[in-house]
Amino acid sequence: MSYQLRQHGPHGVTTVVFPHLQVPHGFSTRLGGVSQGSFSALNLGWLTTDEREAVSENQARFDEHVGFAAPPTLRMEHGVEVAVVERPLEERMVGDACTTDNPAVGLSLTTADCVPILYHDPANRAVALAHAGWRGTVAGVALTTLQTMQKHYRTRPEEVKVAIAPAIGPCCFEVDADVAGPFERRFPGEDLVVSAGTKWRINLWRANWLLLVRSGVRPDNIVVGDLCTACRQDLFFSYRRDRGHTGRMVAAILPG
Ligand SMILES: [Zn+2]
Repeated sequence: MSYQLRQHGPHGVTTVVFPHLQVPHGFSTRLGGVSQGSFSALNLGWLTTDEREAVSENQARFDEHVGFAAPPTLRMEHGVEVAVVERPLEERMVGDACTTDNPAVGLSLTTADCVPILYHDPANRAVALAHAGWRGTVAGVALTTLQTMQKHYRTRPEEVKVAIAPAIGPCCFEVDADVAGPFERRFPGEDLVVSAGTKWRINLWRANWLLLVRSGVRPDNIVVGDLCTACRQDLFFSYRRDRGHTGRMVAAILPG
């Protein structure tokens, strides 16, 4: 199992897709949009300073590409709250993850370095998305999302399929002791934190993978889309690389 870049439609919109998730989904790249400058081209960040008309056109292109409407679901706070979305939303819910089993609800969330995690429970026709920055990773948003699916949809961890999408990689996520310390304490004995001179580098993909596997998700049901958002300037926006002045990607999924 692996991931693929899928280009489709007249504008060259390209998403990262995970074929083991058997429902409509995608993680956007910056390709195929109309935004200019730092936001070039497929900026899906409604809360950035980009022109609204451009983001609106980008959103329409992305929705057409994935095959469903994926308006922003969440107002994110780098925590572990999971929004249970029972019907199409009129405004964003607060949380860093969301879940639904309503086939009329397309979930989506934005990132620009944080780790997007997509979940599909084929037995109960439920899906979820989580957004794990370093704080959310340490706090375990990958787990609270799975637990919420268990509670609301009877999801069994050994049956759920998970995709860990492109994010800032261990090549580029360099931190100080205030961030390295919590990871060392949360994941003792794992080589997630590597010393780099006076700093440390952290593997957020591996941290979230470990949290999921320790909770009963089968390793062969997890695919890591290990493209680094900071290295791959050709494909992705990166908050860190671009010093905050950048666009946003979207992870989106629809129950089957
Ligand atoms: Zn990198």
